[in-house]
Amino acid sequence: MITEVVKPSEIHKVDPVFGQLSFDNHEQIVFCNDKDTGLKAIIGIHNTVLGPALGGTRMWAYNNEWEALNDVLRLSRGMTFKSAVTGLDLGGGKAVIIGDAKTQKTPELMRKFAEYVHSLSGKYITAEDVGMETADMDLVREVTPYVTGISESKGGSGNPSPITAYGVFMGMKAAAKFKFGSDNLEGKTVLVQGIGHVGESLVDHLTREGAQVMIADINQARLEQVRDAYGATIFGGEDLYSAPVDIYAPCALGAIINDDTINKIQAKVIAGAANNQLADEKKHGQMLLDRGIAYAPDFLINAGGIINVYAEIAGYGKDEIMRRTENIYNTTLEIFGHAASNKITTHQAALQVAQGRIDARKLEQKK
Ligand code: NAD
Repeated sequence: MITEVVKPSEIHKVDPVFGQLSFDNHEQIVFCNDKDTGLKAIIGIHNTVLGPALGGTRMWAYNNEWEALNDVLRLSRGMTFKSAVTGLDLGGGKAVIIGDAKTQKTPELMRKFAEYVHSLSGKYITAEDVGMETADMDLVREVTPYVTGISESKGGSGNPSPITAYGVFMGMKAAAKFKFGSDNLEGKTVLVQGIGHVGESLVDHLTREGAQVMIADINQARLEQVRDAYGATIFGGEDLYSAPVDIYAPCALGAIINDDTINKIQAKVIAGAANNQLADEKKHGQMLLDRGIAYAPDFLINAGGIINVYAEIAGYGKDEIMRRTENIYNTTLEIFGHAASNKITTHQAALQVAQGRIDARKLEQKK
């Protein structure tokens, strides 16, 4: 995905919104400002052909408004393709609130934000993202019904991370089937980078299947905790990208497949939960293909979370959530097949399949 931020010194060279490099024909961008609560937020609605634009709200202390705008445009576009490739009747949207979630988030600010969400009459539906908690979504719910990811006790779908991890596990198995001829991960060496909410649950699935799991994290206490709980090995080398493993699962940061890391990667399969793993979608996707590394597109295999919150709108239960998440295995295999037969990257293949669904629906709507 395009990630460039227009430098303030070059502001005169582009149209500030429609000229943004991350602007991809977004349908609507809403700037929300409230002096009394200090709310400054942007809601990005990328595409609503398949359904209401659903995506989380991120609260972050951006360095400037350009960064915030760039982030919301990039993230909302990503949601369109994630939901489309997963087969959900949802469009893509996302919101960012500018500020430090630890010091500037107040109930008044969240309620005011919820009023803006409500003013869109359901065209945008919000959820939790970085800087937000389930309790914040419960607050938003007091003002508007256009919110998902509220507490289970209030009828919501609860914590999405274990479902996300299950989908990543399914996507990884499909990638292994494509690359190694078998989806059985027993005996395979897997490096999980980032053992937070999703990573830990992925380690659980992997160790149950008999994989040799290595873990890496910047949090030493967590490393020891997860090692003790699952018998995983803490990665002890100098450079984790050069680790001689079969599978690499990025579950921490975005843009970790970049000019500095890509040529060091020894793994034959990359399948993880982190969003936007490719620093440059086209260039790094192609380099992975050229190096014979099977890359399971992040936005496809980490869709368990959105499948989970979509249950609140579509009204299905846990069994259907698990069935749809398990189906990430089949979709991933289809994407690998589509990429191989068209000699394109898996990332491009997933985008094409997603776009194909949107275009077909648009045609139907015109009839
Ligand atoms: P989390 O914050 O619980 O865990 C992230 C972990 O990564 C933490 O343990 C952190 O210490 C570690 N980390 C941070 N920087 C690191 C570094 N440089 N090297 C190694 N480890 C590092 O987050 P999460 O909910 O587990 O999500 C993980 C990733 O998956 C994120 O990129 C998130 O956007 C993506 N994702 C999550 C969900 C979900 O349902 N939680 C859904 C879709 C995508």
